[in-house]
Parts: sequence; C-alpha cells; structure tokens
Amino acid sequence: MSHRLFFGFSLTPHRHVHRMVLLTFREGCPLTTLKQLYDLQELDLELDRAGAQIVTLTKRIQDDDAVSSARQALAQRRESIQQMRRQQARRTQDIRDLQTKANDQEARLYGGSIHSVKEMEALQSEVKGLRDQARIIENDEVLTLMLQLEEAEPAEVRESAALQHLEQERSALLEQWTSERSKLEAAMPMLRSKRQEIASACTPVLLAQYEGLRRVKQGQAVAKMEHGTCMGCRVTLPVRELQRVRNATNPVLCPICGRMLYAG
Ligand SMILES: [Zn+2]
Repeated sequence: MSHRLFFGFSLTPHRHVHRMVLLTFREGCPLTTLKQLYDLQELDLELDRAGAQIVTLTKRIQDDDAVSSARQALAQRRESIQQMRRQQARRTQDIRDLQTKANDQEARLYGGSIHSVKEMEALQSEVKGLRDQARIIENDEVLTLMLQLEEAEPAEVRESAALQHLEQERSALLEQWTSERSKLEAAMPMLRSKRQEIASACTPVLLAQYEGLRRVKQGQAVAKMEHGTCMGCRVTLPVRELQRVRNATNPVLCPICGRMLYAG
C-alpha cells in the first residue's frame, strides 16, 4: 500500500512518521482502542496541567519579594527617622549649651567685674559669636531636620499601613495557594495510578508511538474528530478519510497534523 493510497492525497512532511505508524499497525499489534489512548491522553493532559500548576503555585509561595522589599524599605525609613531625631536632639542640646554659655558671658559682661574696654569688647564679640552660632545651627540644621521629619513621619505611617495590608493579603493568598497545591498533590497519585492502569492495557509499541507523538504535538497525540473536522488542527477532512476513521480497526493519522484521529 502506498502512502498516497493510504491518505488519498499528496505526501506531507510527516510522511515518515505516518509510514512508520502504518507499518507498525500492519505488522499486527493487538488492537488498542483509540478510546483507551484518548482516555490516557486526557489523564496525561490533566497530569501536565496539575504539574505545571504545582510549579506555578510553588513559585508564588516562595516568591516573597514584594513583602520583603516593602519590609526592608520601611526598616530603612524607620532607621532614617531615628537618625534624624537623634541628630535633632543633639543639635538642640548644642544650641542650649551655646545659649547658656552666651548668657553666662553676658552676666559677666554686665556683672561689673570687667573694667577694661578691650576685655569688654572681646566678651561682647564672644557673646555675639555664640548667639550667631546657635542661630545658624537652628536655621540651617534643626529647621531642615524638622522639615524632613514632617515629610518622613507621615510617610512611615503610610508605608507601615501598606505593608500591613500587603502582609494580610499575602497571608490570605498563601493559605489559598497552599491549599490548592495540597489538593493537586493529593490528586496526583490517583491520576498516576489511573494512567498506569490504562497504559498497561495498551501495547508497548502503540504506547511508544503515542508518547512520541505527544512529545512533538504539544502533548496532544490523539485528536477528536467532530463533524468531520480534526480537532487537533481544525481542518475538515475529506469524506473518504472520515469513512476510514469510522471503519478502521487500527488508528488513522490526520493527514494534516499527523495526530491519531478518534471518532469519539
Ligand atoms: Zn489534524
């Protein structure tokens, strides 16, 4: 039987695969119904989906980046606020010390103990210097720190609330993801054992063909045929192909996509 006769039209790029399957079937392997292979595929697809979903859920469960970076940013914000407050307290104390010193020197100046004009002028200049220094610290440093704290403190409150919200949200999601993953993991042994049951009823040769096709056909080796259309490639097949699929005792491959056709 030529390939042309088998498919009823020109050779396709899959011809070697088709011929190999055809020859295998013609060599007389025991009949494994397409229904079995189709059921096997349904289980394999379910296992694929569940496996992929478990991987996705595990990644989500492990990925703590959003919360940990928000937590880190808040810790940095708090540390910066503490530093500013400490600096503000230190510089405020420096101002007080300068003022106290200025007051003391002023008291000496007007206390009547100083008689020399030169000494008086020097003392006046020192008092002025101390007061100027205090003013500069107040204007340039303490006020700047106050302005910075006025911005940083409400930001810390906002960030803290946002982090709390994020943590609550993640905790709820973690619960949901963990439960979803547990359900999937719990379902796996049953799916695997069902798969094993069906697979062991298939002939090894046909099973190998099925698995080979699945690898190159995005997991879909068997395509359902509905209303004359192969659901694997969505191409409507010639009428005589439909007849062949319905009457065949061995699997017939779709001439377009090369999948095993299952009439359902
Ligand atoms: Zn097809």
